[in-house]
Amino acid sequence: MYNPLYESMPREQLKQLQLERLQKTVRRVYDNVSFYKEKFKEKGIEPGDIKNLDDIRLLPFTVKQDLRDTYPFGLFAEPLSEVVRIHASSGTTGKPTVVGYTQNDINTWAEIIARCVVMAGGSKGDVVQVAYGYGLFTGGLGLHYGAELLGAAVIPISGGNTKRQLMLMEDFGTTILACTPSYALFLGEEATDHGIDLVNGKLKSGIFGAEPWSEKMRDQLEKNLGIKAYNIYGLSEIMGPGVSMECECQCGMHIMEDYFIPEVIDPQTGETLPYGSKGEIVFTTITKEAFPLLRYRTRDISVLTEEKCECGRTFVRMDRVMGRTDDMLIIRGVNVFPSQIESVLLNFGETEPHYLLVVDRQGTLDTLEVLVEVSEKMFSDEVRKLEELERKLGHEIASILGISAKIKLVEPKTIPRSEGKAKRVIDKREL
Ligand code: ADP
Ligand code: ZN
Repeated sequence: MYNPLYESMPREQLKQLQLERLQKTVRRVYDNVSFYKEKFKEKGIEPGDIKNLDDIRLLPFTVKQDLRDTYPFGLFAEPLSEVVRIHASSGTTGKPTVVGYTQNDINTWAEIIARCVVMAGGSKGDVVQVAYGYGLFTGGLGLHYGAELLGAAVIPISGGNTKRQLMLMEDFGTTILACTPSYALFLGEEATDHGIDLVNGKLKSGIFGAEPWSEKMRDQLEKNLGIKAYNIYGLSEIMGPGVSMECECQCGMHIMEDYFIPEVIDPQTGETLPYGSKGEIVFTTITKEAFPLLRYRTRDISVLTEEKCECGRTFVRMDRVMGRTDDMLIIRGVNVFPSQIESVLLNFGETEPHYLLVVDRQGTLDTLEVLVEVSEKMFSDEVRKLEELERKLGHEIASILGISAKIKLVEPKTIPRSEGKAKRVIDKREL
């Protein structure tokens, strides 16, 4: 363990620590964030009402829309002069959601990731290739600072450029690979095609997350790359990667409970559910300075368990993310809402408002096809014109969402209509 004092703290003691930190956070957001002060008033509560951990249920939820409504810095609890880093969510139309970190927040995050790398069997002697994207996205820089804190040698290669990834992996003797699981699969395939033997090479483990994956994919990754594949979970609103991570037992991800209090709720009623039930995961940050959030609704569906883990860590574990309460898709690591594509189409104005997104996986790469209807008149136009429109739409989607899509214009009334909620997405991927 990187920090056994916290990671294996007896639960009674951990709960006491959580309560103290929660009370401090509640006081801070009440004093520093007008959004929360208002919410407290609406609910008729005051910071002093939080007397034990169960009182967390008195606190208001925070949702993604609250971040949009207070864009860019409205939920910050520190002035910008104390902020040392700003990240923003990937691929949204209009305004992104923005999060900030003080130096202490960055240090906490590094500590968290150092723990994660140790969970994946890492230590000072390891060579960690960080193939998550560097930039506004939290993946790259998040992993980077934590692996450095641990004392490992970090290769900040970022995503893409697969040939180069494989060359450096061999030449530098990478032992731990951090990237999305789908990219890892792709790297494995390319390695085979180029006669590179990863299975008998130095690579020993992978830290894979930022998108849903499965046990089946774990088997494939472990076999094709000759490694142990670990699941890492996180979201920028709460911190970034490392909110939870699998230990060597690979039986669910330990939540870093000295920094985040998890809850599971019924997404319909908002009611708290007991451990063991499937529901929406909610987090409250209890040490964050710049961007503390109370009861943030992740929209991720999972299960929490308090059962003892063989590894000796006492933090509760969450299962793999089993789905979302909204329609968010993660395509090649980019978060995509069907509504974003819809608004690109509507703003463009040359098509009908009927569309269908077909997501698939060819080999190891996600593909997105957008079927969209055009008017009778347009469809009978020259092929060249239609192709031109497909190209322009593809370009528009790429520039706004940061993801390439194949556009296919179709005849009027060919996309099935529905009587209730429109079915906008067909996801054929078998993760
Ligand atoms: P990131 O920068 O890590 O992608 P975002 O805030 O953009 O963070 O997206 C967070 C979302 O990504 C989560 O709410 C969840 O839906 C998804 N996600 C992150 N890690 C995992 C994982 N290991 N398994 C499944 N989904 C994940
Ligand atoms: Zn464990």
